[in-house]
Amino acid sequence: MISLEEARIRINRDLIVMPVVDVPIAAAREMVLAETVTAPENIPPFANTAMDGYAVRAADTAGAGRDTPRMLSVAGTIPAGGLAPRALEAGEAMRIMTGAPMPEGADAVVMVELTRPAGFEVLIMAEVPAGNHVRPAGDDIRAGAEVFHPGTVLGPGHLGVLASIGRETVKVYRRPRVGIMSTGDELVEGPQPLQPGQIRDSNRLTLLSLVAEAGCHPVDLGLVRDNDRAIRAALASAVEQTDAVITSGGVSMGDYDLVKQILGELGDFNWMQVAIKPAKPLAFGVMDGTPVFGLPGNPVSSMVSFELFARPALRRMMGRLDAERPHLWAIADEPLKREPDGKVHFLRVVVSQKGDGAWRVRSAGGQGSHHLLSMAGANGLAILPDGDGIDVGSSVQVMYLG
Ligand code: AMP
Ligand code: MG
Repeated sequence: MISLEEARIRINRDLIVMPVVDVPIAAAREMVLAETVTAPENIPPFANTAMDGYAVRAADTAGAGRDTPRMLSVAGTIPAGGLAPRALEAGEAMRIMTGAPMPEGADAVVMVELTRPAGFEVLIMAEVPAGNHVRPAGDDIRAGAEVFHPGTVLGPGHLGVLASIGRETVKVYRRPRVGIMSTGDELVEGPQPLQPGQIRDSNRLTLLSLVAEAGCHPVDLGLVRDNDRAIRAALASAVEQTDAVITSGGVSMGDYDLVKQILGELGDFNWMQVAIKPAKPLAFGVMDGTPVFGLPGNPVSSMVSFELFARPALRRMMGRLDAERPHLWAIADEPLKREPDGKVHFLRVVVSQKGDGAWRVRSAGGQGSHHLLSMAGANGLAILPDGDGIDVGSSVQVMYLG
């Protein structure tokens, strides 16, 4: 058996980050930036008002108040998207709407709530300083400023900034296409009645969903039988059409566990027995330049193995600096017991934050590697080092699955 760390080192050694591509900004959400983005222009592009009100010369409001209003003549109206008819003169105000450009000659805005219209004039009922409610050009982003750096994950706000500075495309790491195949003679698809010995394939849908959730493009490669020729053909075509392949089943010690044998012959492969429970067996290697993860078939094992090995690897390929799930410390609300066996145990748990802000943890149910229902209800994997587990009130590290 090898340690979890050793297994991860063997995987990381062989990973290469995806090529950089130009992508339209509307398609770049959740992708990782591979360039430094510089703003070609000021945002906002021109000085404008943050309020609906009147553009004025601040000096003209000197001494103004509720009981001592100053009267200014109204020289025009400026809607957002419009322009002032002319420059503002002393003793004048212009009606102005949020986002509209400041007229030349004006240096402040009085919000409409502090004014009262009076025919062709307006009563100003507050003294305001120069710059009042004015958003200067470049106040958000200066022309020439570096706004984003490589490694930034493009979220909705980033896309908004890219749109506002007029970018059409950005350089990002291409989203990996990740193929998923299930292996096993016992597996069937669909709702038809099961024949004796058959079960329905659940891993494929779960892994396809996990791949999508990790930010990759999932490719369904179907069900493959425990047959030497079928597995060889499926793998050969899989590595041709994808950037990474994930198989489930066929990597344990059974007589028909062909995936690990075939992977061993076809590529530079590691078959590993990792000192963890669940998900001890793992095959990993590179076939024609494509990383292939041979995950165990038990439904919980394949999910845990995905979380521990495939997900961080895929995210590294995507250029993500946050390749790992977040970890937190939680206090056990019930004993989380295990037997010493030389392995690290990953327990499916439910973590929640109580009123005092502390994280609490309890078991999500059955901990067998076939107990998929408890995995479905879990939002974390508690990490129990070798030993006999932890008592109520003790702290345990939890990998948070969100
Ligand atoms: P294996 O890793 O092929 O030895 O399979 C281990 C266990 O997982 C067996 O009980 C299989 O029937 C089950 N299993 C394998 N593949 C799947 C799958 N795609 N969906 C559900 N169960 C599976
Ligand atoms: Mg099998």
